[in-house]
Amino acid sequence: MNLFLSQSKEFQKRHIGPNEAETKQMLEIVGAASIDELIDNTIPTQIRLNQELRLPDSISEQEYLLDIWKTATMNQVYKTYIGQGYYNTITPAVILRNVFENPGWYTSYTPYQAEISQGRLESLLNYQTVVADLTGLPLANASLLDEATAAAEAMSMLFNKCNPKHTGKPKFFIDENVFRQTKDVINTRSQPFGIELVYGDHAAATIDDTYFAALLQYPDSKGSVEDYRAFIEKVHASGAYVIMATDLLALTLLTSPGELGADVAVGSAQRLGVPMGYGGPHAGFFATRDDFKRDIPGRIIGVSVDANNNRALRMALQTREQHIKRERATSNICTAQALLANMAAMYAVYHGSEGLKNIAARIALIAQTVLQEVKALGYESGSEFFFDTIRIKADKAVILPVAEKNNINFLYTDDGFVQISIDETTTQQDALDILYVFAEAKGQDEATIGFDSEEYSLHHIPESLTRTSAFLTQEVFNSHHSETQMMRYIKKLEKRDLALNTSMISLGSCTMKLNAATEMIPLSWPEFASIHPFVPEEQARGYAKIIKELGEYLSVITGFDACSLQPNSGAQGEFAGLMTIRNFHIANNQEHRNVVLIPVSAHGTNPASAAMAGMKIVIVKSDEKGLIDVEDLREKAEANKENLSALMVTYPSTYGIFEEKIMEICRIVHDNGGQVYMDGANMNAQVGYTSPGFIGADVCHLNLHKTFAIPHGGGGPGVGPICVKAHLAPHLPGHFSLNKAHAVSAAAYGSASILLISYAYIKLLGIEGLKKSTAYAILNANYMKAKIEKNYPVLYAGRNGNCAHEFIVDLRPFKQSAGVEAEDIAKRLMDYGFHAPTMSFPVPGTIMIEPTESEDKAELDRFCDAMESIFREIKTIEENVYDRTNNVLKNAPHTQKVICVDEWKQPYSREMAAFPLPYVWENKFWPAVSRINNTYGDRNLVCTCAPTEEWA
Ligand SMILES: *Cc1c(COP(=O)(O)O)cnc(C)c1O
Repeated sequence: MNLFLSQSKEFQKRHIGPNEAETKQMLEIVGAASIDELIDNTIPTQIRLNQELRLPDSISEQEYLLDIWKTATMNQVYKTYIGQGYYNTITPAVILRNVFENPGWYTSYTPYQAEISQGRLESLLNYQTVVADLTGLPLANASLLDEATAAAEAMSMLFNKCNPKHTGKPKFFIDENVFRQTKDVINTRSQPFGIELVYGDHAAATIDDTYFAALLQYPDSKGSVEDYRAFIEKVHASGAYVIMATDLLALTLLTSPGELGADVAVGSAQRLGVPMGYGGPHAGFFATRDDFKRDIPGRIIGVSVDANNNRALRMALQTREQHIKRERATSNICTAQALLANMAAMYAVYHGSEGLKNIAARIALIAQTVLQEVKALGYESGSEFFFDTIRIKADKAVILPVAEKNNINFLYTDDGFVQISIDETTTQQDALDILYVFAEAKGQDEATIGFDSEEYSLHHIPESLTRTSAFLTQEVFNSHHSETQMMRYIKKLEKRDLALNTSMISLGSCTMKLNAATEMIPLSWPEFASIHPFVPEEQARGYAKIIKELGEYLSVITGFDACSLQPNSGAQGEFAGLMTIRNFHIANNQEHRNVVLIPVSAHGTNPASAAMAGMKIVIVKSDEKGLIDVEDLREKAEANKENLSALMVTYPSTYGIFEEKIMEICRIVHDNGGQVYMDGANMNAQVGYTSPGFIGADVCHLNLHKTFAIPHGGGGPGVGPICVKAHLAPHLPGHFSLNKAHAVSAAAYGSASILLISYAYIKLLGIEGLKKSTAYAILNANYMKAKIEKNYPVLYAGRNGNCAHEFIVDLRPFKQSAGVEAEDIAKRLMDYGFHAPTMSFPVPGTIMIEPTESEDKAELDRFCDAMESIFREIKTIEENVYDRTNNVLKNAPHTQKVICVDEWKQPYSREMAAFPLPYVWENKFWPAVSRINNTYGDRNLVCTCAPTEEWA
């Protein structure tokens, strides 16, 4: 081995679990002589790439950090007062270190297994409480993707509510002073439904009964705080609803949307301690009245009880969601912004209501002081009532050069104003610096501000809109204000959650691989964290480099020609991809093409996204082997030949196998005038060996939070870029900052700051390591399959009986033989220290296991041992040693509280319950609550923290 070269290959060994000796043993078990042979036996020959991908070689972690630091310095951090939904904020260090930079928080999965997710569920409940309290609306969800998409979700929800037959009330009013990016996303999302958008000044608008809703910004894009009461009454009088896009920090001082009469409030929680990151990720929020509880998009955390009647949290009302309702779901939201919602919630816990109010009041005070002093210099003000944003009539040509010289960004409006949004980070010196700019522009070299007044009054907030109602009076927001308390609170919650820092999370279709520390470190650097998404290009050259290179790498990997990094989840990528196809058809005068073929086994987001894109869905059958029924596909493609828009197909299939006929499938669709959309959730089985482009698809989305190492964050953030063939490239999503229409996200590059993770992942692995990762993902899956199928039936297999990177274990037989259901096995795995695999997708009553390349043999063995041990437990029930309703599986998971009772009454021992295998003694993970009662929670929906009376 060449020691000089070895360093650049080190990361492969860090990322990939099995070492050489283990690889040998594992290959023996799967019956292949080498990795190459295993791949030959698994991936169909006809889809194998005939050359290596053109990607750079790997570099070492140290080299990468030096390299990325150079790129970081290509970004210039100015003092930025641009506002428009993005503000500087201070992430309290205790949150930065213990949440944002802590794998205990960022590597967990969406809390489907609630018993081992109580920590983040509590934090998300806090988030909902913050949103509900501040907006004055009782029902809030656990985050959406961003403010603009939250506004679009509100529009869809109300459109469907008012137009059950999609006609009658087609108009949507948008106040002219709504943020530009929100207008753009709404424009994109309105098109498939034929919603008529009407822009105007709310004060002058006539709203008749052809309108279903209206959208207002509060405070508006000019910073103005308007009293919307009269308008809201007018809208309600014509049988329509009102959505207010708003700012949580402003609402600590302003009368809440709920009190003003709004039906829905949306916005971004970014300025509650989440860095701007050139556009994201941040948590969008959504709050509404109780009567919309079955219509609300996204996840809702609810309070329920466990088997022992203890309070326990879970995701509520899941029957609204895409994995159950499919094309009739309330939205396509799957991955949202959990980690960022948790950071915002922690920010509110740390500051409490007084702290938040003080932050807001100081911002308002600085804003009004600056305005006053600028006026004293002889400028004309364009602001009367405002919170943080002031407008000054001034010539851009005069102000800009002076501001530029002082590294200050203002917003320059088309109507001749300089607009300044003050934020939490603005200091007295910053205020002076702003003033100097205006002084210098007038040729004066001096300016002063008096900051010594003890008494202050926020006289720019109108009395009629001054908040009088209390908020965040609950115990949790009044208990953790010292750093010691806060650190312990965060740790207390963290300990209730099983994340990748405890054990493997083998969720099929979710690819929970290593999220390496080196990949994450640069995210906290101000050169990346503190860049506003609307800064001039010259200040974001570092980002531009990363965006360009990553787009190119992903195009090479997928075999496509162009890439958009804008969608901020996989489902959003699906919507963006379908809209790209739609716009391609429209450009070819084929607007009528609106039929999408979707295999019955597709992920729920596929039909939900197709519905959002206004498509008509035709379901394609699978055969008994789990393959797409090609004859059925051909028939349906031909029957819909005139109107065929696309096929949505996952590859390898959702059953974890490489279909041999995929190329034929693509041909059939093309022959009938359709485009092939490939769902790239399973890209981890393709990278380096085959590609969607090579196979014959036209567009695919990738889940960077699966295949490309972005951590799952307990339910987001994600990035769902779409890659396309050249003919679709002109129709990719645009953004107003790029002078191109069809935006799907608020920011041009979506959740830009976390693109760094995938960029690092590709740089650190290089082409060799990427390919090896695919191979080991396949090896690990086939190794586990070989061991597990000794006891359990494994459904479906591809050539030579091999699976791709995941496989499905059939648990249905045990229902009959022992009364044991998939859920019992999932919960019992918790007692063994494991998170259950994907449950009942794509086949009910099964689990789907995807180990990924990052797990080593010992961990895979522990999991297989646990499955074997559970199999023996099932046998004892089958043999009537234990009762079918009272046994170690039915009572799982076992908490510390259950195990430690003085009088143990179960038919099995405590050791069997809590320490069923020797390895568990080494690293016991205790579920925080017993099995949760799901129906109770939905029947008694409570989705905010307990009110004050319960603890006072
Ligand atoms: C994860 C997944 C999606 C959705 O991705 P999100 O980022 O959660 O929206 C879509 N399709 C498949 C097959 C998936 O596994």
